[in-house]
Amino acid sequence: MKRHTHIFFVIALLFMQLNNTSASAQSCAGQPVAVQILGSGGPTLNRLRASSSYLLWIDNRARVLIDLGGGAYLRFAEAGAKLSDLSLLAVTHLDPDHIAGLPALLWLSNRSRTEPLPTVGPSGNDIVPGYSTFLYRLFDGKNGAFQIMGSALGDAQTYSQQSVRLDVSVVDAAKAEPSTVYNRAGMTVTALGVPHGEVPTLAYRVQTHGVSIVIGSDQTGTNPAFVRFARGANVLIMHLTIDAGTKHPVHAAPDVVGQIAQEAQVGRLIVSHIGPIDRHAAISELKRFYSGPLTIGADLQCTQVR
Ligand SMILES: [Zn+2]
Repeated sequence: MKRHTHIFFVIALLFMQLNNTSASAQSCAGQPVAVQILGSGGPTLNRLRASSSYLLWIDNRARVLIDLGGGAYLRFAEAGAKLSDLSLLAVTHLDPDHIAGLPALLWLSNRSRTEPLPTVGPSGNDIVPGYSTFLYRLFDGKNGAFQIMGSALGDAQTYSQQSVRLDVSVVDAAKAEPSTVYNRAGMTVTALGVPHGEVPTLAYRVQTHGVSIVIGSDQTGTNPAFVRFARGANVLIMHLTIDAGTKHPVHAAPDVVGQIAQEAQVGRLIVSHIGPIDRHAAISELKRFYSGPLTIGADLQCTQVR
């Protein structure tokens, strides 16, 4: 009887471990270049996945933060990242699941960082403001939603000194060729507009230490220039948001994601921004078109870029 009880507990423990679904932190320490997913989800509520966010670690420091959806603020801290280490905050587009965490990250950030934080985002159109207008509406010391963070945009009034200063640049998302947005200290970052319905959206490519990583962001996958942009990347992150065999006006289906990764001949494909889909069907559809190494993204997962 005692033996049966023991076996029961062992089985129960194994079951709990197999179903352990809380986000577990993987360390990026000790790797020259690594990418950590802070948010592997999209706009849909998901108890395991924060909304979209990626962190590039170089020589044990968190150097590039790409997007900051809801929940990524917590993941940034869980990853052990420091605001003072960031060289660039790159924003792909201004949908809330990619940017809603920004005020949370910047609030009181002047206490942990004195240097201005370089940041880049897309141009606007009739339905989405450009990145600088968006920041003005949030942080302007007179008219912003968070007036007390006016120092983010250089406001000098005493009450508004609650954020580190941002050094803002904007990329024309309609431009056909990639734009260089950062080129310093052995790291080059380029941006290219990708089709995401009406919302101006940028993909980013980071090159450093002889390796490269491309963040595809939300896109339909219908800009052939993106395949050239991603070609030969050691790691490509693409979004797996809709079911196999379906069509969507702003997201690529799994077959398109697979085709892009295969055509671009990347070293590894990571799928992220995972929607409420039949994941097994989506992955097997993707694998019909892509035969290289594949990682299914999870929050705080770390992948060496090599
Ligand atoms: Zn999204």
